[in-house]
Amino acid sequence: MQTGGMSVRRPLELYIHIPFCVRKCLYCDFLSQPASEMVQHGYVGQLLEEIARESGYYQGYGVTSVYLGGGTPSILPAADVQAILETVRRSFCLEADAEITIETNPGTANLDKLKAFRDCGINRISLGLQSADDRELKALGRIHTFEEFLKTYQRVRLAGFTNVNVDLMSALPGQTAASWRNTLRRVLMLKPEHISAYSLMIEEGTPFYETYHDHPELLPSEEEEREMYYATRQILKEHGLERYEISNYALPGYECRHNIGYWTGVEYLGLGLGASSYLQGFRFRNVPDLEAYRKINMKADDADWRLHQDITELSEKDQMEEFMFLGLRMTRGVSGSEFLERFGQNMWNVYSKVLPKLKENKLIEVESPYIRLTDFGMDISNYVLSEFLLDE
Ligand code: SF4
Repeated sequence: MQTGGMSVRRPLELYIHIPFCVRKCLYCDFLSQPASEMVQHGYVGQLLEEIARESGYYQGYGVTSVYLGGGTPSILPAADVQAILETVRRSFCLEADAEITIETNPGTANLDKLKAFRDCGINRISLGLQSADDRELKALGRIHTFEEFLKTYQRVRLAGFTNVNVDLMSALPGQTAASWRNTLRRVLMLKPEHISAYSLMIEEGTPFYETYHDHPELLPSEEEEREMYYATRQILKEHGLERYEISNYALPGYECRHNIGYWTGVEYLGLGLGASSYLQGFRFRNVPDLEAYRKINMKADDADWRLHQDITELSEKDQMEEFMFLGLRMTRGVSGSEFLERFGQNMWNVYSKVLPKLKENKLIEVESPYIRLTDFGMDISNYVLSEFLLDE
């Protein structure tokens, strides 16, 4: 549909999951595993069929963002990544200015591969580093050293990428506030446009859980963790990277569109193993078992039924809650007018008890029509955001 040359297609984000890694990191509970080249190639073939099949339902949409995540998508040969993007382009209506990101791990992409990524329209690279300290990288079970990351970073720039994210992680075993500051400074010397800085979570079912769940004294103390958290914001700000979400920082204009879409309720379609979707008020997830996924005949009438599971319709109450606690993750906050437009109700009436209380306690600030978390509110965001759950 076109009006006066302006596209009025409904925005859609695509998330494409590549569930393979060279080796499993010790803290990781993502859906990823090592696999032979043959298995990986077979998976891509199936994924291409899924993309073509699913696109049939989304013809009124314009794709504003494509995110190849994992796992380690950069483990795939360039030709496979190119085939994925060609199929996306052929099947969906991809907006001309779409943000197209690929997660890349050091040691999995040479210059030719990165150039090929650029040539097929990828315009953003997200590099998984986590730490600039080789001992910390080793303790995490990462496959690379800092030196190897530096080489990959240089190649990413040589290949022509001008929008680069670096993923970092604090509260690591053996990490001190000083070594964390050192990691930040070494990375900032490279001038990336975006940094994601999360704290390590000890997830059940990982080797880290075995080691640290009953021995939290082996990890940095809460006090040290706080020190790292405050240092992050301060040091990144000194280098022009503003916090725009609890754990994400960017130079102005380089905020990740894909993530912002997720926090503001833009619909997204997950493609590939275990990928989650949010569409027309429904959430669902693709089957997470690789064998089961590979066996689906994507051309059969019952393919959707085999592919999608955990289908839940979000009630209006669920949608309001999500609007608040996803939107408030961002420093710009949520807009009362948008709430009214979306739900036909006044935000201050719906949250008549919570909002005045949080305001009085200086956990939120109001700049009509926006409300946002204060710095203090961000510091204890888990508590503040949980306040937005509505009674039945
Ligand atoms: S590279 Fe990422 S997805 Fe793969 S095992 Fe390590 S943390 Fe998990």
